[in-house]
Amino acid sequence: MGRCFAEGSENGSLRRAFDAEEFRENAHKMVDFIADYYRDIHKFPVQSQVQPGYLQTLLPDNAPECPETLENVLTDVQNKIIPGITHWQSPNFFSFYPSNSSTAGLLGEMLSGGFNIVGFSWITSPAATELEAIVLNWLGKMLKLPEPFLLPGKGGGVIQGTASEAVLVVLLAARDRALKGDSTKSLEKLVVYASDQTHSALQKACMIAGIRKSNFRALPTNSSTNYALSPNVLQKAILDDIHAGLCPLFLCATVGTTSSSAVDSLKELGEISQDNGMWFHVDAAYAGSACICPEYQHYLDGVDAADSFNMNCHKWLLTNFDCSALWVKDSSALIEALSTKPEFLRNKASESSLVVDYKDWQIPLGRRFRSLKLWMVLRLYGVSNLQAYIRNHIYLAKHFEELVREDTRFEIITPRTFALVCFRILPPANDPDNGFTLNSQLLDVINSSGHIYLSHTVLSGIYTLRFAVGAPLTEEQHINSAWKTLQDKASILLESYN
Ligand code: PLP
Repeated sequence: MGRCFAEGSENGSLRRAFDAEEFRENAHKMVDFIADYYRDIHKFPVQSQVQPGYLQTLLPDNAPECPETLENVLTDVQNKIIPGITHWQSPNFFSFYPSNSSTAGLLGEMLSGGFNIVGFSWITSPAATELEAIVLNWLGKMLKLPEPFLLPGKGGGVIQGTASEAVLVVLLAARDRALKGDSTKSLEKLVVYASDQTHSALQKACMIAGIRKSNFRALPTNSSTNYALSPNVLQKAILDDIHAGLCPLFLCATVGTTSSSAVDSLKELGEISQDNGMWFHVDAAYAGSACICPEYQHYLDGVDAADSFNMNCHKWLLTNFDCSALWVKDSSALIEALSTKPEFLRNKASESSLVVDYKDWQIPLGRRFRSLKLWMVLRLYGVSNLQAYIRNHIYLAKHFEELVREDTRFEIITPRTFALVCFRILPPANDPDNGFTLNSQLLDVINSSGHIYLSHTVLSGIYTLRFAVGAPLTEEQHINSAWKTLQDKASILLESYN
């Protein structure tokens, strides 16, 4: 690097694009750079403080004609890119839900990048397919998923990029299964059910799958069920739709909703779903990780009624983005919806039906060797360390919740279930918008301070601050210091407010 490829030299460009010794030297520099980043990460403002378009003024308009040195690029990363980064791995990141990185996960990611295979069919890299199936069986057993979700059998696991892709592929499978051979059903009549707390990924999946906008039921929840979907509300909605001549298709239940970590009752909802011949999908994108601990596994009671189950290992299981684990009970439904067999992909292994071709379980053709990083996480940490990791975050969230409860200026909005605390500053009496402005201002002040980063939601019309513990480097000292920042900023704000 740093020199132009020699035109016409024998194999010149090939040697230059990947030279083992050059890679060794530069990769060591990159590892040092990344290690230093993690060492210093707590020093950066957690939420990037740049303004829109900031980078345009810092970088040239055109790509360089000749190569530059790695040192030059890394200097730019340090000075121009890092200021525009929101540091999801910072111990002071409490926003959204976490997106975990770890040594094992990052090493696995590196190895996957090193091999750079495209494992769409078994034959394109048998190890990629087989490792994925094995690792998802391991994880499925850690979650105590029922046997039908595991390979070999009719079901099995597959790694998708995101929970959004997972729900889309199972919705497509459900749609095609319902329409196949039943002339009384038509696309316009199919209805999808979920709660108003369900992630918007389902709504997007419906848009893509051709489900009518008017046939998407985001059923109302409230604080009486801690924002879980009420089986009675679901039952009534289904009956009304059947009376109106519509066809219930798909139910999505969530274990750990995005706004407040609400948990839908899989047992009760699953029964209703089965009674009505619907596809039952469980979105445990966030809280699925907690269910590797025996004491949280009861949240999955009733999962045996599900047709599909999804969790994001990249959220809270130390596996670098992206790694969304999806299990289905009947993979043939997925394959029928998504399989294509162009001549240029035909091969003996696929035709033997002895192998899985994961291209038929997902939207794109190409796929990365993502199981490597999950395999490395499971092997290098072991189940007991992963359980301890989850338990520690839940302990830290409990600790934060206690701190909030001790300060009478604040209130907890809905009970904590996992490692998310939903709270707010209590507004003064007769506040015209019931604390909406006050709490949104607090969030702005907090996030622009750069010390910590939180996000918000609205529950029953109440502007709610979300404090999600889950970044790998977060310790008790970070919780205490975050709470002090919140208290200090709240004091200043309340003074000016009164
Ligand atoms: N489902 C739940 C419960 C989530 O919390 C999220 C994201 O936070 C998603 C789905 C969407 O996840 P993804 O970004 O993997 O599509």
